[in-house]
Amino acid sequence: MLRSTVVVASAAALLGALLAPAHADSRTPTVRVPEAVGFGGVVSSVDPDASRVGVDVLRRGGNAVDAAVAVAAALGVTDPFSAGVGGGGFFVHYDARRQEVSTLDGRETAPAAAGADLFLQDSQPIPFAEAVTSGLSVGVPGTPRTWQRALDQWGTLSLDQALKPAEELARRGFTVDATFHRQVAENAERFADITSSRALFLPPPAIGSTFRNPDLADTYRQLRRDGVAAFYRGPIGRDVVATVNHPPKDPAATRTVRPGRLTAADLGDYRVPRREPSHARYRDLDVYGMAPPSSGGTTVGEALNILETTKLANESPTQYLHRFLEASRLSFADRNRWVGDPAFTDVPERELLSQEFADSRACLISPTRALTGPVSPGDPRDPKPCATTGEEAVTPYEGTDTTHLTVADRWGNVVAYTVTIEQEGGSGIVVPGRGFLLNNELTDFSFTPVAPGVPDPNLPGPGKRPRSSMAPTIVLRHGEPVVALGSPGGATIITTVLQVLTQRLDRGLPLLDAVAAPRASQRNSATTQAEDPFLGTPEAAALRVLGHRFAATAEIGAVTAVERLPDGRWRAVAEPTRRGGGAARVVWPG
Ligand code: GLU
Repeated sequence: MLRSTVVVASAAALLGALLAPAHADSRTPTVRVPEAVGFGGVVSSVDPDASRVGVDVLRRGGNAVDAAVAVAAALGVTDPFSAGVGGGGFFVHYDARRQEVSTLDGRETAPAAAGADLFLQDSQPIPFAEAVTSGLSVGVPGTPRTWQRALDQWGTLSLDQALKPAEELARRGFTVDATFHRQVAENAERFADITSSRALFLPPPAIGSTFRNPDLADTYRQLRRDGVAAFYRGPIGRDVVATVNHPPKDPAATRTVRPGRLTAADLGDYRVPRREPSHARYRDLDVYGMAPPSSGGTTVGEALNILETTKLANESPTQYLHRFLEASRLSFADRNRWVGDPAFTDVPERELLSQEFADSRACLISPTRALTGPVSPGDPRDPKPCATTGEEAVTPYEGTDTTHLTVADRWGNVVAYTVTIEQEGGSGIVVPGRGFLLNNELTDFSFTPVAPGVPDPNLPGPGKRPRSSMAPTIVLRHGEPVVALGSPGGATIITTVLQVLTQRLDRGLPLLDAVAAPRASQRNSATTQAEDPFLGTPEAAALRVLGHRFAATAEIGAVTAVERLPDGRWRAVAEPTRRGGGAARVVWPG
């Protein structure tokens, strides 16, 4: 059944592309299909308008970086509850000429005034829900500077050119789909309490209506004209600071909306470091990802190293899933104990990714009995077979809304870029007159140490970046790209990337099937989250016999991915159904 959907979908993609004029503009009807194959470059994102913008950039001769920035800016318009200039992200780039992967860290930073007690009041953590909708949780946005840095480093377009399609999209408007409508409806209560958010989004726009955001169009215009200085040292930044420190709460609202303590200097000091990617050697593949402050790269990498101790291709479907869950559990215990902002904590990154450490952890996996989590971390600096440190390391809560885009161009360059404002709708606070939501990324910090007496590398600190789970990933074989992908989903991002990778690379599923497959996510807790279709499989029943316990959840992640075919074509893949289905596009189908 899945296959026939794919055939229909690909035919629809082809038809859509044939109907599209050579130079499609923002009025071109958009197509929402999960797979596209062909030449000249591909784009996959959660949104048809954004993917179209990316393909237009590629078609006009832009490279993958140009397209990625244009797509991210467009997502700031059509998916403003996950993306936008008010947030941050991680940009992973494969340079085809140099056969080299590099990354940009556009993670938000805590203000200089933030201490370890950022979320404490009278030594007690404030209620999480109150931190979510607050100025307190807003980090210095990294996204505008990430775009500028990526373009400076590898792009051919100026920021002015790259933001033009998104400005047009915001000004002319786009058609509201069910996802956009739902996201507003889910946030309606808190948006109603913030005057600027209420004015922009409420009442929830009807499905099929046109949504325009002239304030955001003007913000993009200002960035195009004056550069990112308008944000980090200029009028947009001043508005951000004022909004964080005096959230525009309706005086009649009873909600507690705490102010932050952000300064112009916090914005002025913001930098986007270029970081070495995380690297794990998996079979004959090189898996590159995002190093700390994201835990994405080290945790996916460690789990792969653990899984490499058996040949997953030869395992039964149940044993494959059992090992996937156990490797996830163990690597999450280590992530929780060891990963934080490397500027503040000595993260043993190389040791976490060593095969010796993975072997010492794999030894805890039994083929006949599930570990009952949470398990204790190991010590990667001193790996001993089956040894643990004895302290449990559970995974704190993280939001589940973000968005990932994947692009490849005709020269073979690839970008995997995950952008976020943390929770769906971020802090819920729109900067008045600017048309974008501020992030609440600082809630990714631990509010208190994970367990009493246990060192926690992820407590807040001045200028510190909260630990992330975002895992934009590019896999190479002999220096050539094989597959690139990423997902939203907070901490589930890691298990989603791991599941899709192993299903594609080890279990031989076509990429679309690997993305569509029902998901489960074990993050070092007693129960494993799993989607309903997963729970109905015979493997789930067999896993229960091994001792796994499951909790149902509606949806895990929203992957976008691209892969290189042996004949040089590219395949782009998006979700067939999750989040209403994504949009894969190719420049020249065929
Ligand atoms: N803030 C999360 C992180 O950085 C991402 C949130 C999400 O995926 O929804 O890991």
